[in-house]
Amino acid sequence: MGDAVASSHVRLLAKDFRSSARAKADSYFILHTSSLKLAHCPRSLAPTLVAYVDHSHCPVLAPATLAALPSTRAIPDRDVFYLAHPIRSILPFLRVDFRVKPSLTGIILEELADFLRERGAPSYRAKQITDWIYKKRVASFDAMTDLPNELRAELTAEFNTLNTEIVRVLGSKDTTQKFLFRLRDQNLIESVLIPASPALYGQPSDRRTICVSSQVGCAYGCKFCASGLEGWTRNLDAGEMVQQLIAIEKESGEKIDNVVFMGMGEPLANLKNLLRAIRIINAPWGLGIGARHITVSTSGLAPQIRELANESMQFRLALSLHGATDEVRSRIMPVNRKYPLKVLLEACDYYVAKKRRMTIEHILIAGVNDTDEQARGLAKIARRLSAKINLIPYNTVEGLEWSRPSRARREGFQSILRKHGVIATLRREKGHDIAAACGQLRLQTKQAEREIRLSV
Ligand code: SAH
Ligand code: SF4
Repeated sequence: MGDAVASSHVRLLAKDFRSSARAKADSYFILHTSSLKLAHCPRSLAPTLVAYVDHSHCPVLAPATLAALPSTRAIPDRDVFYLAHPIRSILPFLRVDFRVKPSLTGIILEELADFLRERGAPSYRAKQITDWIYKKRVASFDAMTDLPNELRAELTAEFNTLNTEIVRVLGSKDTTQKFLFRLRDQNLIESVLIPASPALYGQPSDRRTICVSSQVGCAYGCKFCASGLEGWTRNLDAGEMVQQLIAIEKESGEKIDNVVFMGMGEPLANLKNLLRAIRIINAPWGLGIGARHITVSTSGLAPQIRELANESMQFRLALSLHGATDEVRSRIMPVNRKYPLKVLLEACDYYVAKKRRMTIEHILIAGVNDTDEQARGLAKIARRLSAKINLIPYNTVEGLEWSRPSRARREGFQSILRKHGVIATLRREKGHDIAAACGQLRLQTKQAEREIRLSV
C-alpha cells in the first residue's frame, strides 16, 4: 500500500508559505497550491483530507491556538485556499502535511491483505472487501455487512470509497454515450461508452467499449485536440481511472467488454498509476477484463514505450501518429519535437520486437496530413512495425481551425494504404454531434460554468 498512500501526500513546507502566501484580508493568507500539484482544495474535499500542522518551527505560538483544516477555506475552481489564523505572522512558520485518503478502487488485493494483517485482521477479509466492491458493487463500507464494525470504522478512516460523481450524460443507449465526471476536488473529466464497431476493435458490435481518461487535461497540446486546450491540471490516480468503469456500468446497466485509454490525457505520462489501474481492471478479483481487451493510446512518449516493452501484462498499444514526416507531425503534435520520428520509431521497433503488435492511429485533417505522400509514408511506417492502421476523420473542435477531408479523399487515402499492403480501417465516426472527441464535453461544461459564475 505504501506507494498509494505516499504518492498522495502533499507537503507544504514553511518556505512554500513564505514564497507563495500573500495577504488577502487581515486574518487570511492565500496559499497557492497549484505549484504543489494540488489544484483545488474546496470544502468538499475536507472529508478526504487529513491535515497535520507542525508548529515546531514557530517561535511564538501555543499549539492550541493553531488553525488547521477546519479553518481552511476554499474558493471552488480556483487554485487557492485560505489557511486562516488570527496571528498572520505565524503562518510562515507552519508546516502542513496533507494526506489525501487513497481511493479503495486504487488498491491491489495483496496491499489490502497487508493492511489488514498489520491491524490484526485475517487477510481473507481482503477478498471479502474486493468482492463487495467489484462483484456486489457497493459504494460504502457500511454496506459491507459481513465485516466487523470496528474494521469498517478503520477502513472508513483510511480509504475513500466511490467518490467520482457523474454530472452529465449525453447521447442515447444504442449509440455513443458520453459521461462527465466531477472528481472529489471539483475537477472535471469525461469518459465515452461506445458500442464497439467491428472496424475499430475487431469485435462483434454487441460489445461495449469504454474510453477512459487518465489525466485532468493534457500537457501535450496537440493542435487538433480539445483535451490539450487548457493545459494539464493533474494526474488521475488509479482509483479514479477504475471508478470511471464502475460508475458507467452502474449508470448504463451495461457490462463493459473493452477498455481504451483514449480519453483525456496522455496515459504514458502517468505510467505508474496507469499500470496500477490496468492491473485492477484486469485482475480476476477486480473487474476481470482480459488484458487483450485493454488498449493504451499514446502520442508517442518514446522512453515509456520502451518501458512498456518490458511490462508483463499483455494489453495492447495504439500509437497516435497523425503524421508520416517530422514536418507534418511537428506541425500538429508538439511532442514530436521532443521525440522525433527517428527516436519514436526506434522505440516502437524495440516494443514490437519484444511484444506483439501495435496499432497506428491517424486522424485525417484536410490539407494537413491527408495527402498521397503522407499515405505512402504512413504505409512505410506501418510495414516497418507490422501495424494495422485506424484512420479517424477529424472531429470538429470549437475554437480550432481544422476540418475533416471529404469522403472521397478519406477513401482515396485508405486505398493508397491498402495498395501498399497495409490493413487500414476507416473509422465510422461516432458521436460527432455529442462532442465525442476527447476533452470537448469538459471544455464546454467549464465554459458554461464560467459564464454562469460571471452572470451571478
Ligand atoms: N493522449 C493519448 C490518448 C488520448 S487521445 C493519445 O494522444 O494517443 C485519444 C485519441 O483521440 C488520439 O488518437 C487522438 O488523436 C484522438 N483525438 C483527439 N482529438 C481528436 C479530434 N478532434 N478528432 C478525432 N480524434 C481526436
Ligand atoms: Fe494530449 Fe492525446 Fe490530446 Fe495530444 S491527442 S493533447 S496527447 S490527449
